[in-house]
Amino acid sequence: MILEAKLSPSRAADFQRCPLLFRLRVIDQLPTAPSAAAVRGTLVHSVLEHLYDLPIHERTEVTARDMVEPAWDLHLQRQPGDAVVVADGEREQWIANAQNLIGTYFQMEDPQRLQPAGREQFVQHTLPTGLSIRGFIDRLDVSPEGLVRIVDYKTGKSPNPRFENSNLFQMRFYALVLWRRDGTIPKQLKLLYLGDGRSVIDEPTSADLEAVEGRILNLWDQITEAVRSQTFEPAPSRLCDWCDFQPLCPAFGGEPPALPMVQLA
Ligand code: SF4
Repeated sequence: MILEAKLSPSRAADFQRCPLLFRLRVIDQLPTAPSAAAVRGTLVHSVLEHLYDLPIHERTEVTARDMVEPAWDLHLQRQPGDAVVVADGEREQWIANAQNLIGTYFQMEDPQRLQPAGREQFVQHTLPTGLSIRGFIDRLDVSPEGLVRIVDYKTGKSPNPRFENSNLFQMRFYALVLWRRDGTIPKQLKLLYLGDGRSVIDEPTSADLEAVEGRILNLWDQITEAVRSQTFEPAPSRLCDWCDFQPLCPAFGGEPPALPMVQLA
């Protein structure tokens, strides 16, 4: 396979977390079963995206809660395999849990006072080194004065502030893409944790974003070196508990498949 010079926040996070995890996901492209939390996140994101298709006066909590069940049915038509995340007889509770997250959203923002400039928006910029940095932004707001805000919805609870860095890295990654692409630093980055109603706001400086750029370039250097040396070491941590690849991981007595032929684009 050809490894193209492109990086998203999630793939960058994979490599930072564990080079072997990155390899199995990106190079071997091994499929993984969807987790219930991930599928519920997709569902809630879909409702919050399409809520803003409605006329302003129709963006009520009742309407948004009523959007959850049709959105789930539509999701299952597109991704029938995801039905397995809901056990028989638990559909009602599943829908109610997603509706509760939507209810929390309405405690945090008033969608009747917002008109996003973008939703689920793909953004991309190619750095002078040739590395394409990219990703999907949940929501982009632009004020009448032209100030840009990047908004990201998290359907889990907010992490201990000591572990917030990975989410802030993701947000600054997007801010860097927009800054390098458009020449203007986004004014505000806003993380909304629907699991507990907490929000985190960041106002990045040029020094913050230059630091993120340096980190990204350094990461890509490490990835290309791993490809050249054909070495993707496991990096055990407490996050291994949530890793789908434990059975293939030498740190847990497993053996990964032979590394596919891989070349850098
Ligand atoms: S189990 Fe841990 S060390 Fe092994 S691949 Fe997964 S994250 Fe890496």
